[in-house]
Amino acid sequence: MNLSALVHSLRCCLLRTESRFLQAFGLDLTPLAPAMVVNGPSLLPQIDQEPQLEEQNQDLLDSILWMAVPKKRRSIEVNRTRRRSDSKLLKVKVNIEPCPECGHLKQKHVLCGFCYAKVCKETGLIREKIREMEGGPLRAPAMETVVLYEGETPSELDKDKRIVERPRKRPAWFKY
Ligand SMILES: [Zn+2]
Repeated sequence: MNLSALVHSLRCCLLRTESRFLQAFGLDLTPLAPAMVVNGPSLLPQIDQEPQLEEQNQDLLDSILWMAVPKKRRSIEVNRTRRRSDSKLLKVKVNIEPCPECGHLKQKHVLCGFCYAKVCKETGLIREKIREMEGGPLRAPAMETVVLYEGETPSELDKDKRIVERPRKRPAWFKY
């Protein structure tokens, strides 16, 4: 046996040991020798993945709400000047007057909220009374309705009208 044959057998033995070792550890069995690489379009059919990726990117860009952002920080002086400008300050109201009925303060040319609540309450009680008298849902009556307060008697004109009696004195603001 000459030297070259010995080297060859040793080499084979070493390679076999290496492959066994790699096999035992579940590692890749490909040899470490350099492989041929072809740089060019593949002849085998391949799934084109690039357009999909582009589409995904496009979807992502579409899903983002793009907003304008300031390029420079505004100083606190500038911000305060803007926030406390004349147009942003509370205005002094000059259209306020006392209600001629109850004396509460109200806006001019606007119904007094306090008086309106009183009217709503009284109207609600009258409606309740009508419901007690006639029952059922309140429908548009075919005849006129007269509300009589304590100590009042129906006049000749109220003969054919629906009469609702309220057990209290007539409020000053309830005229008809
Ligand atoms: Zn009022």
